[in-house]
Amino acid sequence: MSGEAAVKTYPILIGEQRLTQTAGGAIDVRSPIDGNLAGRVPRCGVDEVNQAVEAAHEAFGKWSIMPANERARLLYKAAAAVRANIEPMARLLTVEMGKPLADSRKEIADGATTLEYFAVEGTRLGGEIAPYGAPHATGLVIKEPLGVCAAIAPWNYPVSLVGWKIAPALAAGCTVVVKPSTETPLAALEFLRVLLDSGLPAGVINAVTGRGAEVGDPLVEHPLVRKVSFTGTTKVGQALLAKAAPGLKKVTLELGGHSPLLVFADADFAKAVAAGVKRSFRNAGQICNAVNRIFVEKSIYERYLAAFVDKAKAMTLGDPLANPDIDNGPMLNARGVAKAKEHVADAVAKGARLLCGGATAVGPEYKSDLYFLPTVLADCTLAMKVMVEETFGPVVGIAPFEDLPDALRLANSTEFGLVSYAYTGSLATTKALAGGIQSGTVCINNIVGSTLEAPYSGWKASGGLGFELSRHALDEHLRVKHVRIEV
Ligand code: NAD
Repeated sequence: MSGEAAVKTYPILIGEQRLTQTAGGAIDVRSPIDGNLAGRVPRCGVDEVNQAVEAAHEAFGKWSIMPANERARLLYKAAAAVRANIEPMARLLTVEMGKPLADSRKEIADGATTLEYFAVEGTRLGGEIAPYGAPHATGLVIKEPLGVCAAIAPWNYPVSLVGWKIAPALAAGCTVVVKPSTETPLAALEFLRVLLDSGLPAGVINAVTGRGAEVGDPLVEHPLVRKVSFTGTTKVGQALLAKAAPGLKKVTLELGGHSPLLVFADADFAKAVAAGVKRSFRNAGQICNAVNRIFVEKSIYERYLAAFVDKAKAMTLGDPLANPDIDNGPMLNARGVAKAKEHVADAVAKGARLLCGGATAVGPEYKSDLYFLPTVLADCTLAMKVMVEETFGPVVGIAPFEDLPDALRLANSTEFGLVSYAYTGSLATTKALAGGIQSGTVCINNIVGSTLEAPYSGWKASGGLGFELSRHALDEHLRVKHVRIEV
């Protein structure tokens, strides 16, 4: 207990202040690796939210009119500070979240890359000349930053996804108030602190921590907040949209997913197996665009299952800090493990074949009950939870399909539409999939579910409102003004 009392409290960021104490007390953050206390964060409420929004509003005055190349210079400098501090932040991320240290290092570096990308994009913003056809009048269509933006992030990529939100906002001239996830706030707070310490003006970035609704509601409802960017579950996203409605705020929603992978008999078989295993189990399956269900053309179904299971069984599982390059560490928490077990039990009860996994790993090297084995279920049907609900764990359901129309029907059979994957050697099939799949992103012969240079936005219950990434994300933080001038 005395060791736990000495654990660090990570400060929230409000204007120039770094606060470790609030009236609401503190929230413990425990490591899924071994259950030990990883750190604490202040439990904020409406007072801290109001202060943070006011600080962001004050900073907006100068930041919004700063020349874009000057903002870009500061954002580049901030990215360099992140690169110089990757290791301590990556270790913190692995401790609080459980992903392999190599993946955490990449995630922090990606945060820097995102800032650099948007720093440059921000300097390319232009407007239009309205083509009136009236020689005495000139029409300018200009874009101006919206104001204070609220950024609410989930726990699975707590630094990357904060980066996706703040980089376009800052590059567009907006200021931000970030609410990191309650489960994994530590590395995100440190990331934001490093950015501010690199020389960004105080108040441009603010961060408040606390329980979802206690912080999220006053943040979304604050009249000075003009835009809300949320990534998380569909249920919370729907609730936030309703809360933002009375203030007529711009809202970006990136919500849950249930990604299909279609494997055709003419595909590069080895690549389709390796990609399927990687995308199903990376980050212990705790990815919005993880492969949740695989449909394989009937003629290669059993061969695919056998090769897939061989690869899944060969995956390494263990302490993600001690073994930086291990395939997987623990899942985040007992709730996630319980859901994974529930989906396995439901599928087996309804006739699925459990080919591997289905339980947590046991042994002295596993210091918590959260190390879930890569799990493969065969002969799945749409009546099974695993085929329609997001498991958010290392569990994948597999089923055969008859032909292209059947594959499309199955791919489009859930309420989600975030990312879909397919492997095929046919140009005609590729064209049919590109047009027929109902999701914001379609990957053919690759599993690159998101990339900085292209817009990311789910369809259906995966979001459908606004974009992240690419220059489209900048537009989400701008409003358009038409100026008509007659002389
Ligand atoms: P979550 O919805 O529980 O929480 C997300 C954030 O919202 C957290 O910061 C949380 O504290 C906050 N929150 C919770 N309740 C709130 C409320 N009532 N008001 C305001 N804020 C509230 O999601 P999670 O469990 O952190 O993340 C997992 C989910 O995120 C999965 O569904 C996953 O698919 C999704 N996700 C989507 C994307 C994407 O880009 N589409 C990316 C990553 C994760």
